[in-house]
Amino acid sequence: MAVSPQSACIRLDGKEISQQVRDELAATVAAFKKEHPAFAPRLVAIQVGTRSDSSLYVRQKAKACTEAGIEFDHIQLPEDIQQAELDARLNQINNDPAVHGIIVQLPVPEHLSTRHIVHSIRPEKDVDGFHAENIGHLSKRATEPFFYSCTPLGCVELLRRYSIPVAGRDAVVVGRSDIVGSPMAMMLSNLDATVTLCHKATSDLAAKVRQADILVVAVGSPEAIKAEWIKPGAVVIDVGMNYKADPTKKAGYRWVGDVEAAAADRASYMTPVPGGVGPMTVAMLLSNVVASAVRSFEASSRIAIVPNPLKLQDPVPSDIDIAAAQPPKPIAQLASELNLAAAEFEPYGKYAAKVTLDVTERLKGNGDGHYVVVTGISPTPLGEGKSTVSIGLAQALYAHLKRPAFACVRQPSQGPTFGIKGGAAGGGYSQVTPMTAMNLHLTGDIHAIAAANNLVAAAVDARFFHESTQTDAQLFSRLCPAKKGQRRFADVMLRRLRKLGIDKTNPDDLTPDEVSRFVRLDIDQDQIMWRRVLDTNDRFLREITIGEAATERGMSRKTGFDIAVASEIMAVLALTTSLADMRERLGRMVVALSKQGEPITCDDIGITGALTVLMKDAISPTLMQTLEGSPVFVHAGPFANIAHGNSSIVADRIALKLVGAPAGEPVTADNAGYVVTEAGFGADIGFEKFVNIKCRASGLVPSAAVIVATIRALKMHGGGPDVVPGRPLADEYTQENLELLERGFANLRRHIENVSAVGLPAIVAINAFATDTPAELELVRRLSREAGAYDAVPAHLWAKGGAGAVELAEAVVRCCSAPRADSRFRFLYDHNLPIKAKIEAIAKQFYRAGSVSFSAEAERKIEQFTRSGWDKMPVCMAKTQYSFSADPALKGAPEGFDLPIRDIRASLGAGFVYPLCGAMQTLPGLPTRPCFYDIDIDAESGDIRGLF
Ligand code: NAP
Repeated sequence: MAVSPQSACIRLDGKEISQQVRDELAATVAAFKKEHPAFAPRLVAIQVGTRSDSSLYVRQKAKACTEAGIEFDHIQLPEDIQQAELDARLNQINNDPAVHGIIVQLPVPEHLSTRHIVHSIRPEKDVDGFHAENIGHLSKRATEPFFYSCTPLGCVELLRRYSIPVAGRDAVVVGRSDIVGSPMAMMLSNLDATVTLCHKATSDLAAKVRQADILVVAVGSPEAIKAEWIKPGAVVIDVGMNYKADPTKKAGYRWVGDVEAAAADRASYMTPVPGGVGPMTVAMLLSNVVASAVRSFEASSRIAIVPNPLKLQDPVPSDIDIAAAQPPKPIAQLASELNLAAAEFEPYGKYAAKVTLDVTERLKGNGDGHYVVVTGISPTPLGEGKSTVSIGLAQALYAHLKRPAFACVRQPSQGPTFGIKGGAAGGGYSQVTPMTAMNLHLTGDIHAIAAANNLVAAAVDARFFHESTQTDAQLFSRLCPAKKGQRRFADVMLRRLRKLGIDKTNPDDLTPDEVSRFVRLDIDQDQIMWRRVLDTNDRFLREITIGEAATERGMSRKTGFDIAVASEIMAVLALTTSLADMRERLGRMVVALSKQGEPITCDDIGITGALTVLMKDAISPTLMQTLEGSPVFVHAGPFANIAHGNSSIVADRIALKLVGAPAGEPVTADNAGYVVTEAGFGADIGFEKFVNIKCRASGLVPSAAVIVATIRALKMHGGGPDVVPGRPLADEYTQENLELLERGFANLRRHIENVSAVGLPAIVAINAFATDTPAELELVRRLSREAGAYDAVPAHLWAKGGAGAVELAEAVVRCCSAPRADSRFRFLYDHNLPIKAKIEAIAKQFYRAGSVSFSAEAERKIEQFTRSGWDKMPVCMAKTQYSFSADPALKGAPEGFDLPIRDIRASLGAGFVYPLCGAMQTLPGLPTRPCFYDIDIDAESGDIRGLF
């Protein structure tokens, strides 16, 4: 239709306005991209079948998207696709965080349900605005939809751009379809027009139309609304697009609207057909996609902070009672607050989920958050509350200072949970919850590690057995059996061949000598280093004899078990950075030496693929939460005294990205959150390994270290009586004693000096007990500052949760806001130094030993490791946590002692050598009265009791 140029009617020029809108969108997208290079709006259009009109519409949308800088994917599916297949496809696209809008081109073939399809698109990607949730929110006064349907939105935009007032006017909408008429009526009503909605059953339509100040017509019936019905001066928006036969036209037809063209003689404004509403619809689709992309981009750079407030009680109830009284958020809710896409997490029950490593790829443009490591002084056997401080600090940052904050902690081992120490979910009002799930099997990672470890052990002994009883030819025909006349090497066998320098891929091409080298690992039974593991403090398995049955033909040997969390596979899990890296590391783990002294690896045994399969779920960190609703990653659990004592690199990396600064922005105090990661035991143990092993492997640089101290432990270091689990504390610990405290401060001073020596600011957290006096707390505060600590703050996290650690959290924020410590952070030693030099660097600089003595066995192995080229790795000291020395009784800050190295092991997969200092055991035992006495279940309710 052409509006008469003579009339006073102003043409609502959809073509021109839509071009303006599209130009503005293109400029917005370009500007956003310039500031945030990772910003990439994307629309996916699904077309089922090949209808030519649908193809034309899709092409128009594709062109418009490209011009606006929006990526456009056209997915054309076969006409006969079944609903289930289409659902699966839609689900995949719904879950793809790179897609911001999805449209399914309608109509779809009759065997498919339009209603089902429309509602299968997630409302936040439903850029057509058709989903019932979006329509529902539109029809409510108090809420807004994610998207408004594009055609009525285009009509409103025309009214807006022509500055046509709407509020208080009488509007009539003719037609009540779900996509045009009904939402149009609601949108006009929301703009405060008084709306009449007409349809086929409307009586005296002409009279209704005559009342309209604003008339919108969408009936799909050519010229159904007569010109003489139009109120003089009315605004007419004609949505209709109809063919009308016209022999004068080349095509034989012309486009007409639902309103007679002559209506322009009476109207003040009117849309032409074509060139009115039509072009606006496409422009609004683009506008919806850009809005969606911006929303998703902004949300992904900011996690929602939704605290779960505590109801503190005094006296403080038991850990398990506190946890039971504070229901966690459903894990899907927490995941959504973190902006995790559905494909990025997999729930394990109601309150835990595995999070995939893909998150770091999606957020790779983001800066990292502030990385804070929590360590401690040399503890008493009761522990000084490092986990409690880590968790309470995260709660304070998140729930009280409203900063994005993650805690990254280790998964508790069943050994301590049922032994002396109890669980490791924190304590009091600073806990990971549900603590029962965390302290027990959780997502089964430790079981997976034990399964993988023991599969290796079984494979090594079995291989030794088979090699001892078979010729080369027999071994070869069994390792590479002919199937249907064809022999082939398994992939892992090709790795062994490459290692042997044999580049053949066809088993039939091997010479007898090559066959012999390939099949015969020639394991020296006395040099099998691989030990079995279990996650129980079972002291009688420390040394055992295996192979006693007659079927093993006398090939018995002595070996032993370690605790699963001290295994090399646990270390690999904690230090790996990707599935491919984990496979590589598992493959190079050395299990034994051959009779010629050559190392035999898991690749040689042929087990690497199977191990990776067993570990494939374990590589994803487990998302949980604190009592106050802040996110926690629980992942990996190496002990700090006999392993490297730190949770996983992948968990820290994902958390750092999730709380990190938005892409393209430099990290500042305000735009980045905090990741609180815990390093086991005292700073001489877990923290030293955090720096020299974990940070070396991850490349991550911490901003600050929190050193946890208790008045109790400091008094013990000052010469207080023994602290023994299960026995009441001596009076020295419950009454003020400044002299003992000041003497024992030497231990904390040494740890502050050590943290400062690697270039990190140290913040002392005094984990306060009810018996600590103000003078005692003040003394530690003053001495810590004098010793060079950035600050020292008493924290009441056990009794008050995050509220008790606000001052500590503020100190952490202040410290991290100071110019970053990157330039000052340094490793303690160069990993290329000889093994002994590295051990001495740790012993003399961190422990302050006067000398290091090596047993003959340790000397022999160091020589052997050096010959094998295994001397270029960092060192993972296995040493008691109770003293800087190898003697647990040597408290305080001893100096000049001798550090005896009893033995040394090599963990090629983990990437460190592992000296054993003094009498360290790699499998703890149970005491006379272990924790398990108190652990029980209420058989009626199923509630667990006695865990702490
Ligand atoms: P629809 O789903 O067929 O709905 C038509 C509506 O009009 C129904 O509510 C129907 O009433 C009502 N109606 C039909 N004849 C009527 C009459 N004589 N008197 C009063 N009411 C009558 O149509 P639609 O999808 O909304 O599309 C309407 C028109 O707009 C079509 O020409 C279409 O091509 C066009 N359109 C254009 C765009 C664009 O981008 N420009 C976008 C969408 C649609 P009942 O409910 O009582 O049956």
